Amino acid sequence: MTAIRPEIMPRHNSKAGEALVEENLLTASQLDDVLEEQDESGQYLGEIIVENGYAPAEEVYQQIAEQVAVPYADLDSVPIDVSLLPLVPAKLARKFTLMPLYVEDDVLYVAVSDHLDIDALDTVAGNTGYHVEPMLAPPSEISRVIDEYYTDAGNIEEDMEILAEEQTGEEGTEGEEPSEAELEVEASDTPVVRYVNLLIQQAIDKRASDVHIEPHDKGISVRLRIDGVLHYTTPPPKKMFSGIVTRIKILSGLDIGERRIPQDGRFRLEGSQIDVRVSTLPTIYGEKVVMRLLDKSKLMLSMKELGFQPKNQQIYEEALRQPQGIILVTGPTGSGKTTTLYSGLGNMNRDDRNIVTTEDPVEYELEGINQVQVKSKVGLTFAASLRSILRQDPDVIMVGEIRDLETAQMAVRAALTGHLVLSTLHTNNAIATVTRLVDMGVKSFLLGSCLSVVMAQRLVRQICPACKASYDVPPEMRQELDLPDDGEYYHGEGCDQCNDTGYQGREALFEILNIDQEISRLITEEAGEDQIREAARRKGFSTLRERGINKIKQGITTPEEILTNTVGTGDEGTDQAENCDDGQEPERPLISGAAVPAKEADRGSEAPNPSVAERIWWMRAKLDLTQKELADKVGVSSSTVGSWERGRTNPRRDNLRKLRRIMDDIETPTEAST
Ligand SMILES: [Zn+2]
Repeated sequence: MTAIRPEIMPRHNSKAGEALVEENLLTASQLDDVLEEQDESGQYLGEIIVENGYAPAEEVYQQIAEQVAVPYADLDSVPIDVSLLPLVPAKLARKFTLMPLYVEDDVLYVAVSDHLDIDALDTVAGNTGYHVEPMLAPPSEISRVIDEYYTDAGNIEEDMEILAEEQTGEEGTEGEEPSEAELEVEASDTPVVRYVNLLIQQAIDKRASDVHIEPHDKGISVRLRIDGVLHYTTPPPKKMFSGIVTRIKILSGLDIGERRIPQDGRFRLEGSQIDVRVSTLPTIYGEKVVMRLLDKSKLMLSMKELGFQPKNQQIYEEALRQPQGIILVTGPTGSGKTTTLYSGLGNMNRDDRNIVTTEDPVEYELEGINQVQVKSKVGLTFAASLRSILRQDPDVIMVGEIRDLETAQMAVRAALTGHLVLSTLHTNNAIATVTRLVDMGVKSFLLGSCLSVVMAQRLVRQICPACKASYDVPPEMRQELDLPDDGEYYHGEGCDQCNDTGYQGREALFEILNIDQEISRLITEEAGEDQIREAARRKGFSTLRERGINKIKQGITTPEEILTNTVGTGDEGTDQAENCDDGQEPERPLISGAAVPAKEADRGSEAPNPSVAERIWWMRAKLDLTQKELADKVGVSSSTVGSWERGRTNPRRDNLRKLRRIMDDIETPTEAST
């Protein structure tokens, strides 16, 4: 760019310079120096004068403007139309030191320090579609207004949109497999690099936990998971897709030539505590990429920040101090179980205890802790790694998840032989976890003697403080949650700050079962859930739903959020079977081997709800019935019962009613259960 300047501003065409001398802004000898320097460097005249401190910038540029008959822009008084900013991305403005000012009669006026910088003016014209006219201003002044008007955070989205538009046009050749070298070239393309940077920055700004980049037949979609829910954001044009994927793969050290098998990798964002875990999955339209942003600085939340009440915090901390025992955290995927366990590990003294974890996947890398990545493909399962860990003289073991009897039994054995074991389980509530383990085949007398504490956990979204308002809760909902009619309840009405969701941030709900002597005895004696709950209640135990109702009353969250994320237990007076078909978000299937509901079958609009499955399975276990026996009682085939229990289908309304009647029989205290 500078190379063409001597031509367009030849040395002896120094009218502007002479004018400056005439105006006494410059001495004749200074002008000679300036012209000599211009010959050597090819720099712009005004730039050299100002750099050498011969004259004040404003006056120099005003004079030059007059001489070359280009209007001067006094950036303190010229109107700046902010609606033009999205048309000229910040990076472009900074690169060429130019500032879009206003539009008049389809002409865009732009402040530049060199009115002959054709490159800059052409780029702006190409970007905006306007005819562009330059106005002169000192570069320092232009930089000042760029900084003032382009605040980085505000323009990321606009920048991305501009970028997307810039890049539309001819589609990439489809059907041909680009070579590795071609991919590398694509990935280093400036718009691609810029897009990936902007996308990650946008995710951080919006407090997103995950970024999904998904190819489909018509293009690409990009979604951000914010407070647990996915939201669409500006997608890039399809032709940038393979470049973006390759760029992310290069960053995370993946094989860019391999596009047929799933890959996992990670990278650290420069100068931050944020790790990005990347996974790719080949789909029929190309590789889908998910980036999970893991912010270590936010990981070691204090127990209070997690939402523990002081009493419960004490229970958890006490259990963490014990040399042995089992601490279980339960809940569906995404309920924050791992965070709770990590923060427990983080609060331990890591100098005098050997802490080993086995995880799938290792989410956060923690200092001073030995973390093992489960690799089922090569036989390194939870159970297998746990076996090896036990030979490594551990004090504390964290097992990512107890999925099978073998792992459960080994965890129990480890706890009984002087180790502290922390783990998670996919169960609905704290008390059901105990029965689940026994049903899995763990001996109840062993479990009773090694369990220290069981916590059920859910994350519920908090009402956005910016648009929080009181509202009328529908009567059915109030009834279901047993909310007083005269109470005041809140929700978010939706605003810019919360992407119109009405929510911002999340808070954990905990249900904590402390295994004291009495509860331990009840477990050993295989007492029913009701009996355990009753005993626990006497010591202040409260359920997730009850905790949730408290949060509603405190105006922290909404009734909708609590209904979606918690289920009532019998003793709250809520009818379980009725809950089954109220359109609740289905929970993860809780029966081992149960798949995510695969087909809607003949159940009409009713979505299969795995928590119904769990309920049926639990009931049958309680009554000690085979599938056939229960099927006969209801009047369906045993394969139907099987399908219910796997969460594949839901019982029809009439069958639900029959099931409820059978359920009532076991829930009324008949002393029948031993
Ligand atoms: Zn809001």
